[in-house]
Amino acid sequence: MQLLYGDIVANKILDDLAEKTKLLPTPPTLAVIIVGDDYASQRYVTKKHAACQRVGITSLNYELSESTEETQLIELINELNQREDVDGILLQLPLPKHLDTTKIINQISPKKDVDGLHPYNLGQLMINEPGLRSCTPKGVITLLNYYGIELSGKNVVVVGRSRLVGKPLAGLLINENATVTIAHSKTKNLRQLTNQADLVISAIGSPKFFDSSYFGQHTIVIDVGINMYNNSLCGDVDIDSVRDKVSALTPVPRGIGPLTIACLLQNTLEAYLEARKLWTTN
Ligand code: NDP
Repeated sequence: MQLLYGDIVANKILDDLAEKTKLLPTPPTLAVIIVGDDYASQRYVTKKHAACQRVGITSLNYELSESTEETQLIELINELNQREDVDGILLQLPLPKHLDTTKIINQISPKKDVDGLHPYNLGQLMINEPGLRSCTPKGVITLLNYYGIELSGKNVVVVGRSRLVGKPLAGLLINENATVTIAHSKTKNLRQLTNQADLVISAIGSPKFFDSSYFGQHTIVIDVGINMYNNSLCGDVDIDSVRDKVSALTPVPRGIGPLTIACLLQNTLEAYLEARKLWTTN
């Protein structure tokens, strides 16, 4: 089994971004908003700030209390939407339960929506037109391209249908000419579907859910899940069970996580260039 390391690819992207930002008249700026003190979210945000620093992107940190009201958060987003020195706005999810996530995401200007979650950008993705693409799905496609894994004509099963991962990922895969099945918690015969696939991408958030019985000998498996299990990180796939069966697998950690961050920073640069009409082909 080949391990498909995402961190190797992410490091190359970050090095490339660092070279590009050096040539800009001013650094791009990413505003990161976090509401509440969820431990995992805090860790992700710290990593995002560190990556910004590494590539020469200015990052602004907005830490709001758990009890923040919707109007306060929307006010902050509107202010950041207006600011010419802010290129990207990242709202760290999940939000506390009393906040309406959809309503709040929809307040972010599509031009600054570096997470690619605004309906405008999701719509552009569905019709394969330019727009900011969701970071984790973009990271998955970047990884597959890097390892030379052809998508055209392949049968791909995406397990998970969230706005953050499953749905936009399915859109990107269709745009790459894959034949896509989306599975979710109500899907019947999941094992049968995944066994017939060339490529299975899991984003369900259930530790070690997929054992070897879910895959064929030649299946390529991308594990997006990040879970805690016995005090350590693991994916949705039980690596010990599948290692002698599948043809390739992304490890967790060192898989899609680092690519999500790299794609976020790529999107921030893209938003910066687009706002100033400095856009070239790359
Ligand atoms: P959600 O909880 O929003 O969505 C999970 C999806 O999985 C749902 O569509 C759900 O179905 C489906 N699902 C859950 N259990 C099963 C099951 N037993 N069989 C089939 N489908 C199932 O999660 P996210 O999409 O936000 O995240 C998914 C995972 O990816 C998490 O572990 C998260 O931490 C990780 N993640 C990793 C990132 C990275 O950078 N690597 C970035 C973002 C997320 P239904 O819709 O029917 O409920």
